[in-house]
Amino acid sequence: MGKQTELYSGKAKTIYTTDDPDRLIMHFRDDTSAFDGQKMIQLQHKGATNNKFNAFVMTKLEAAGIPTHFEQMISEDESLVKALDMIPVECVVRNITAGSICKRLGVAEGMELDPPTFEFFLKNDALHDPMINEFHIRAFHWASNTEVAQMQALTFKANGVLKQLFEDSGILLVDYKLEFGRYHGEVVLGDEFTPDGCRLWDAKTRKKLDKDRFRQDLGDVIESYQEVAQRLGILS
Ligand code: C5P
Repeated sequence: MGKQTELYSGKAKTIYTTDDPDRLIMHFRDDTSAFDGQKMIQLQHKGATNNKFNAFVMTKLEAAGIPTHFEQMISEDESLVKALDMIPVECVVRNITAGSICKRLGVAEGMELDPPTFEFFLKNDALHDPMINEFHIRAFHWASNTEVAQMQALTFKANGVLKQLFEDSGILLVDYKLEFGRYHGEVVLGDEFTPDGCRLWDAKTRKKLDKDRFRQDLGDVIESYQEVAQRLGILS
């Protein structure tokens, strides 16, 4: 199934239509960006690394009973996915404090959160993805009550699967962001799961192995993504 026209180009991925209206092609580019695109560079092999990473995680989630848009990898840096009607919110679960929650609540980085937190953010770059709650989602009709409940349940279900998966490789799943869409009436996990959209720390040293290496100029960005991929057995 070949690419037809470009549907959308985001900060790190480009989406193409195919001859099947129910299928899209997701191209993971080598671009990496932070702070709403203010900081942007190209990292060799990032597209291919993230494509493989995403395929691996989506397959694990699907096997655990979480419906995902992922169909199959079709090249080094492209995957075939189901065409979803995306819900414009981001679902964030945190197991350990880091990033925006530290600034927002004035708490130190690295505190265990038990139980984990759940936050909704509106997908809107111009507004810097503001935090919202269920009432905003309902009042502005971004999603129904049932969809809100399903997004929360599926995001937490993913936490159980992924925390264990990373823990088995000596990695802490600090936090992550998921996005969902509708596919023939069903709420389905879309977008991606890669080190661009989660925080991963070495369990012993707490070394950061995710996009914070880029955000915080820590160096070895792609090397760290590849290290996680190797530890999980995605890359040899
Ligand atoms: O910035 P913040 O601490 O709220 O991010 C929480 C998690 O969600 C992090 O893993 C971050 O990488 C991810 N995230 C994302 N895309 C956004 C906002 C956050 O992938 N637009």
